[in-house]
Amino acid sequence: MRESLVAECRAVLEDLDRRDLLRTVVDIETPSRSRIRIGGRELVLMCSNDYLGLASDPRLAKAAQDAADRWGTGSGASRLVSGATPLHAQLEARLAALEGTEDCVLFSSGYLANMGVISALVGPGDLIVSDELNHASIIDGCRLSRADVKIYPHSDAGAAASVMRRARAEGGSRRILVATDSVFSMDGDVAPLPDLVALCDEFDAWLMVDEAHATGLFDGGHGAVHALGVAGGVDVVVGTCSKALGSLGGFVASSTEVCGLLRNRARSFIFDTALPGPVLAATLAALDIVESDDGPRSRVRNHAGRIARSLADLGFDVGTPEAAIVPVFIGDSATSLDVGRHLMEAGVFARPIRPPTVPEGTARIRLCPMATHEDADIDMALDAFARCRPSS
Ligand SMILES: *Cc1c(COP(=O)(O)O)cnc(C)c1O
Repeated sequence: MRESLVAECRAVLEDLDRRDLLRTVVDIETPSRSRIRIGGRELVLMCSNDYLGLASDPRLAKAAQDAADRWGTGSGASRLVSGATPLHAQLEARLAALEGTEDCVLFSSGYLANMGVISALVGPGDLIVSDELNHASIIDGCRLSRADVKIYPHSDAGAAASVMRRARAEGGSRRILVATDSVFSMDGDVAPLPDLVALCDEFDAWLMVDEAHATGLFDGGHGAVHALGVAGGVDVVVGTCSKALGSLGGFVASSTEVCGLLRNRARSFIFDTALPGPVLAATLAALDIVESDDGPRSRVRNHAGRIARSLADLGFDVGTPEAAIVPVFIGDSATSLDVGRHLMEAGVFARPIRPPTVPEGTARIRLCPMATHEDADIDMALDAFARCRPSS
């Protein structure tokens, strides 16, 4: 190993550590479920996106085992090269039905779905209008596309309108794509989707909504797009099978033509190995559960509502959570690390989220309850916060 490379990496890591920004991976000794074990200690897990507890559900595991027996563990190559199993087509049809679209394309992850769809739909000379708090995979997809990108202040539809008005006034026939998370991943609030739909009508722009933190959490297993009644005005829905669906994979649900284009132009579809059978079967089993049982999603959303109300009463700033993510704003990174350690001592695992994942000065603890949490688990988290309430 060349010493210059080692020295450069070491310098970056030391600098991150000095600024309380160094990150490390914690090893857990149990499956990822509502209570986990770390270093021999049992902790309440409060930072997983496995909102419905399906990632360790035996019904998904059984479906994956059966599929492994039948279809094996790998898929060999990209679907365009070596073909696809019937499970791929089945899952795409199920997801299209859930989203109410004509078609759907599976990717290996939500990250790859965003990379693929944005760069397939727009390119140099086009314009992307993007919320400042959009997920990193949208940001990276925008960069890959080499389109012009205009960032608007969080959820400010008026600002998005100004950007589009100016672009249209300057003339040209360039394409405009508006991209937004529906439920924002680090803030838990919901984008102003009806306003964005109206703007896209006015300026002939295309609307892409990322439902990663919403799919499965609203009535019927839908996301926020259906809950807000705007499915007809959204051109492209991006989603993931890796969060509430407890499995792995990403998807884009849209028209026959958009999906056909993706199969021909989305580089992260074309040059990426297809998802293997066990993962697809687990997602199909998750959809059976999610579409038929409202119990888990109402439990997780009740937990989230109770956490938000209780922490607000204690004087914490929790933003405006609307699904199952409750951000507890702390401010500076060092204090957020202290709060994280305090929670850990109190038996609650919820790691601080620091820059650059969130803007400077907005470090936070991001609480994600699960449907499988007992009320006593939620009590533990609330008690831990009560003992470090902000001095006012
Ligand atoms: C997690 C997330 C993704 C990425 O999905 P993966 O399947 O984990 O790659 C994309 N968009 C948003 C908004 C997310 O929160």
